[in-house]
Amino acid sequence: MELIDTHAHITCDDLYPNIDEIIENAKQANVKRILCICLNIEQIERAFSLKERYEWIDVAAGFHPSDLYDVCAKDWEALSTLAKDERIIAIGEIGLDYHWDDVEKDVQKEAFIRQLHLANELQKPVLIHMRDATKDTMDILREHKKVSGILHCYSGSLETAMDAIHMDMYISVGGPITFKNARGLPEVIRQIPIDRLMLETDCPYLTPHPFRGTRNEPKYLSYTFDVVAKLKEMDASTLSHQLKKNYAALFHSSL
Ligand SMILES: [Zn+2]
Ligand SMILES: [Zn+2]
Repeated sequence: MELIDTHAHITCDDLYPNIDEIIENAKQANVKRILCICLNIEQIERAFSLKERYEWIDVAAGFHPSDLYDVCAKDWEALSTLAKDERIIAIGEIGLDYHWDDVEKDVQKEAFIRQLHLANELQKPVLIHMRDATKDTMDILREHKKVSGILHCYSGSLETAMDAIHMDMYISVGGPITFKNARGLPEVIRQIPIDRLMLETDCPYLTPHPFRGTRNEPKYLSYTFDVVAKLKEMDASTLSHQLKKNYAALFHSSL
């Protein structure tokens, strides 16, 4: 069985110092591909150097809505240049986060749209972060997005998920599906077409039950996988095969 972690911040300061051990543990836990989400230029450089040792690590890059206060003109220039590199297979994570109010909504929207245009221009999928900002995020996607992509760590309604799928998006499920207070999410996951589903850890955040509260790593992906297999009433090998197919379809790769 092979699992793919479609959203992992393994080059962040929390995880990178122990990266070789973290990757070894991931492999032991059947995680055979990781999409490494880089949120700044330093993380992109770390990911490129990782990729020299582990070619099966994929790289995505973009400016997170909550980090924008830190992004200067030079960073934008660097991102536009680096995004063209063929090692970067997606733009993200990008989007809107109204949960934290460190960055003004207008600033978030402008950066989001700017990065959607970059993705359109380069014909690379987008990885979308949407927190407490469903309407604005969906409106902007509808108006500006011309590529496919993933709504990451999904926690919204079935209606929004289906809207996104009709916009050629995939829905990615993270650790919260394993939580006791997952609320309506299990039913949403049950209803989503299986060929539109992805799994992720979003490590170092959102560690699945029963490790909730500790630092997350790709090795914990199997806990989320098991819950989703139950919800979808699928055996492990059928589900892992389908998830691999979904990932390959989005990134036009032959895994
Ligand atoms: Zn996110
Ligand atoms: Zn993330």
